[in-house]
Amino acid sequence: MSDPDTGGRPNLIRRTAFPTSVSRAVVTPLQPSVVYSSPDPDALDDQYEGRARGYTYGREGHPNADVLAQMIDRLEGGQGGIITGSGMSAVTATLLGLLGQGDHIVGGNQLYGRSLRMLTQDLPRWGITSTLADPTDVAAMAAAITPATKLLLVEVVSNPTLRIADMEGIERLARERGLILVVDNTFTTPVGFPAFSRGADVVIHSVTKLLAGHSDVTLGYVLTREAGHRKAIYDTNVTLGLTPSPWDCWMAERGMYTFDMRFERAQANAAALADLIAEHDAVETVLYPGRRDHPDHNRAGALLNGQWGNMVSFRLRGGRASANALTRAAPGLAFAPTLGDVGTTLSHPASSSHRALTREGRAALGITEGFFRVSVGCEPFELLRQDFTAALDAARPG
Ligand SMILES: *Cc1c(COP(=O)(O)O)cnc(C)c1O
Repeated sequence: MSDPDTGGRPNLIRRTAFPTSVSRAVVTPLQPSVVYSSPDPDALDDQYEGRARGYTYGREGHPNADVLAQMIDRLEGGQGGIITGSGMSAVTATLLGLLGQGDHIVGGNQLYGRSLRMLTQDLPRWGITSTLADPTDVAAMAAAITPATKLLLVEVVSNPTLRIADMEGIERLARERGLILVVDNTFTTPVGFPAFSRGADVVIHSVTKLLAGHSDVTLGYVLTREAGHRKAIYDTNVTLGLTPSPWDCWMAERGMYTFDMRFERAQANAAALADLIAEHDAVETVLYPGRRDHPDHNRAGALLNGQWGNMVSFRLRGGRASANALTRAAPGLAFAPTLGDVGTTLSHPASSSHRALTREGRAALGITEGFFRVSVGCEPFELLRQDFTAALDAARPG
């Protein structure tokens, strides 16, 4: 086939056809196209009216987001999950999609910091109010419900003190009172707590964390039980432009292939590390749901199916000076306020996630200057033993 006559100018604009191949690529193709062309307006009608399946515009959906959504759907046991540009955009699309002026939320009092900020500072500007309550105490959650309450927002494991919410009680409360139960399942993952199968109406993940697992993409996910909820959240996501890039979805898909192996390894490391930390004389308290001395150990045992998680928190006997000494003595442990990376990261809530609180506010949660949260990664445990021993030796007070 010869090129049409272009009057002597090179034909670079018309796209060259993608080569055909009888063999198929094993890896999911990355599809960055923002626009999709349909054969004619009737075909476009068919797409928009649901008689034919096809993509139209990148913000409204694309194949790489759908592949990733289906992988997380399988883990949660649902269908039709929505990928969003970050965990916070999943929270935003859910709350703005499902609620309107005059509605009220009852939220856990130790939610992720930005979620707390949204409930207490941002949503009130749009006429949506909240009351925060302790999710380990279902009576406290019930007492916070008002006639305007429409939705409960909880996380199973609190950040950073790793308390376990009374999920059975909260699920029953939501049913009895006709409230939408939204569970941010980021810390637990669907392997630790299959929130959707356990009765959540809406499940949120920050895919950025354990699911993608390599600290190189920011993405979120929302799964709903009711089609009406899905449509409201999908439309809000698309209208507010909270949607994800194909590249990020492709990267997250790549990370997801090893999610269950990473999580298994990280949890085994976390259990061993919690015991190691607990025995060190620089440490006042260690918090790990798998240990018998954790205040919610029995509830964690009933809810988490032996998946105690990869998060360990501890309180040093010393204060800020000991905290500084600890991070400096362990350069191999990334001091970074995130979680779920393939490697171990340390966070210090008093100087990061909880810095906006007063000292008294932090003290009420047990967060001292010597408090650390560890997101345990997949290193050989011997490396963690060496790093933490050196770090804790340096953190002895005095
Ligand atoms: C990190 C996190 C979020 C926010 O996710 P981003 O991807 O950082 O926007 C929400 N909830 C929890 C529990 C988180 O840990």
